[in-house]
Amino acid sequence: MRISDREKLQLARMKAILKRAYQKVPYYKKRFDAAGVRPSDIRRLEDIKNLPFTTKTDLREGYPFGLFAVPRREIVEVHTSSGTTGKPTVSGYTRRDIELWGEVVARALTMCGATKESVIQNGYGYGLFTGGLGVHYGAQRIGATVIPISAGQTKRHLDIMQDFGSTILTCTPSYALYLTEAAEEAGINVKKLKLKAGCFGAEMWTDRMREEIEKRFHLIALNIYGLTEIIGPGVAQECEQKNGLHIFEDHFYPEVVAPETLEPLPDGEKGELVLTTLTRDGMPMIRFRTRDITTLRREPCKCGRTLVRMDRITGRTDDMLKIRGVLIFPYQIEKALLEIKGVEPHYQIIVTRPRHLDEIEVQVETSKKIFSDEIRHLEEIRKKIEKHIETAIGLRVKVTLVEPRTLPRSEGKAKRVIDKRQL
Ligand SMILES: [Zn+2]
Repeated sequence: MRISDREKLQLARMKAILKRAYQKVPYYKKRFDAAGVRPSDIRRLEDIKNLPFTTKTDLREGYPFGLFAVPRREIVEVHTSSGTTGKPTVSGYTRRDIELWGEVVARALTMCGATKESVIQNGYGYGLFTGGLGVHYGAQRIGATVIPISAGQTKRHLDIMQDFGSTILTCTPSYALYLTEAAEEAGINVKKLKLKAGCFGAEMWTDRMREEIEKRFHLIALNIYGLTEIIGPGVAQECEQKNGLHIFEDHFYPEVVAPETLEPLPDGEKGELVLTTLTRDGMPMIRFRTRDITTLRREPCKCGRTLVRMDRITGRTDDMLKIRGVLIFPYQIEKALLEIKGVEPHYQIIVTRPRHLDEIEVQVETSKKIFSDEIRHLEEIRKKIEKHIETAIGLRVKVTLVEPRTLPRSEGKAKRVIDKRQL
């Protein structure tokens, strides 16, 4: 779609959803009134900056159904986000929302090369988590064959992958990596697998991790993005150019704001992603603060899509670690350590505070070859990693090398940080 045409469509949709949110959801009416704005004040897309944000806390206060814009009987499905602290946030879908969800995930899977001929092995968890059913609806919308295997059951995954000739794998990147190891261990000839592409998301990962998965499984690994509060997976998807994720902005209007001041930032600057749903029926989200750190880019993409791109997520404003007063993201450590040869993409960051001073320990797995080398050589590598991380984050860390396959593997999202500080 031409950008000018899309902007017209976005504006019409934005005006309509703001009006509906104001009329149907008391929470929005109260917030808009308190900020002294009316939906009719929004005349251009940029005017959205005058509206108040919506946060996870607002959703929790309205728990469970307080932000629904339709009577509960119109809701045909609910999902919740994994609430690690307090109540989870609830998302309600009408029949039209489920159709929309299928549509946007179908677009995403198509960008990974999915067609009616594809066999999609869906390793995202089915349940209240949106990953499993989101991919399921998208695959069915395309008419592909979907295998709802869900997360876990590694042996079964490998059997089915071989027996059913799966062409597309969908799961978290850390689980994909785990599957490659398990396949290797089971002596499976990965070259005989039919896998062509992987659609991986629901957690942060690096390009180095992508290379590892691609090399070990002989497929193209692409990044999918989404969140329960907005719809689930299918908010944005990387194309084969691998230069950022195209946001389906005819349905989800993106902004990036400075995390401290919450002022809108121009394209190309890094900040917190804020999303407004333009077409959600059951639960419109107006300026939802995702907490995800990214950058928007509007330079044309070689794939021909005119949709804005966002960089892969490089952190969360609520995952920021404050170490001796310095703000760091776990991603920075991951990136630095994976730049070193012989280091496996399995690591854990442990933060402690002995004697009132924060200390970071990074436990890193090395390859079998390196670990069987002489002790002296190991010590050299250890020091090299310490130095490399220190240069990257500006803080001294303690690195411990651990034997291959000793750190816990996850079947869902990997837990990278263990904060043992008593704050
Ligand atoms: Zn593209």
